[in-house]
Amino acid sequence: MNINIQDLLTFLDESPSAFQASLAIKERLEAAGFGELDETKSWKLSPGGKYFIRRADTAIIAFVVGSMPLTDAGFQISASHIDSPALKLKPETVKTEKGVTRVGVEVYGGPIISTWLDRELGIAGRVSIQTAEGIKSLPLNINCPIAIIPNAAIHMNREINSGFQYNKQTHLQAILATGSDAGNPLLAAVATHLNMSVESIREMELYLYDLANASLAGTDDSLLISGRLDNLAMTHAILAAILETDNPQGTSVAAFFDHEEIGSTTMQGADSSLLGELLERIGMALKLSREEQIRALRSSFAISADMAHAFHPAYPEKYEPNYSPMMNGGPVIKINGNYRYTSTSQSSLRFIDLCEKAGVPYQKFMVRSDMPCGSTVGPTMSATLGIEAVDIGNPMWAMHSVRETCGTCDHKYLIKVLKQYYR
Ligand SMILES: [Zn+2]
Repeated sequence: MNINIQDLLTFLDESPSAFQASLAIKERLEAAGFGELDETKSWKLSPGGKYFIRRADTAIIAFVVGSMPLTDAGFQISASHIDSPALKLKPETVKTEKGVTRVGVEVYGGPIISTWLDRELGIAGRVSIQTAEGIKSLPLNINCPIAIIPNAAIHMNREINSGFQYNKQTHLQAILATGSDAGNPLLAAVATHLNMSVESIREMELYLYDLANASLAGTDDSLLISGRLDNLAMTHAILAAILETDNPQGTSVAAFFDHEEIGSTTMQGADSSLLGELLERIGMALKLSREEQIRALRSSFAISADMAHAFHPAYPEKYEPNYSPMMNGGPVIKINGNYRYTSTSQSSLRFIDLCEKAGVPYQKFMVRSDMPCGSTVGPTMSATLGIEAVDIGNPMWAMHSVRETCGTCDHKYLIKVLKQYYR
């Protein structure tokens, strides 16, 4: 199997929540010689140097300092997000009724809710622990079937196959145990997993996740099925490209934001100071004047990469016939007249040029005129930084299902294009 596809499968399995995705990225960056910078410290950067920062245990931005002056060569930015729709636990709702212990959930982002039921679920996130030295934040991944959200039997819910609306407060509570009177099984499991006492656990940010591993599929292995392909697949493609970037002319930047699925307006989201501050600090460390910094931004370009919708032969009526990308037909340029995507004729051509140089096919997506259009990190990033940008993504099916499907060729194609971009 292609090494990038093998690593994508591993990366997907290692990243049940944004906290683990961030650590999986950090690990790969460090192995490739990238050094971590602290946002609270002063920085010294050198041309060709490879660095990264992390914010709030999730968002992570890597960059390689270019050999040419920033004012001329600018920043070559790629951006994606590392969060996915999920069910987030309400840790203090654990309650036992008729011998069944359940925990309530909040719906994070816009999942296809029905896909979360009747599955073996693990729990991942982070936990704040009280230690003698103060509060410590620890990642947590309980990767065994610790929870389940069962459907009602069809005999009790005859209309379920005609479309059923789950009540998020009452129907989605996850079952943790039965017949247990051992207090709070969630706290006990978290403490056991971290090898800490229950008393030392102060706060928790935990998400349910589907335990099924990522896998190849189809008679020709041309498909890849996993949770969180939106948007860990794009994240992995960008990461694979920057890991192999050496001595670029312009400064290569790979930004992996959190919280895109809920609108990006948090300190680790795309609609924050994170990327703008980083670019400014790179300029400061390289002794650029304010004017030179602004000139550098105007010479820059951004590729916003988020998964796209592949043509689904069972639902042809959902697609604009002339803009319906084929699975494994190549990366997709996303275009929208209301600029829910940043792509313009100019920025699209820049991406097309990269595809042509890399010998990779490309496709275009526009939503039907009678349907609303999605959006992503591109518009916010482009507007706040004043950087020309294009929105792209690889085709996939069942976006926001707990199991999504994409194409293996498309992944290899996009890595080629992004390597060309960072060159
Ligand atoms: Zn997305």
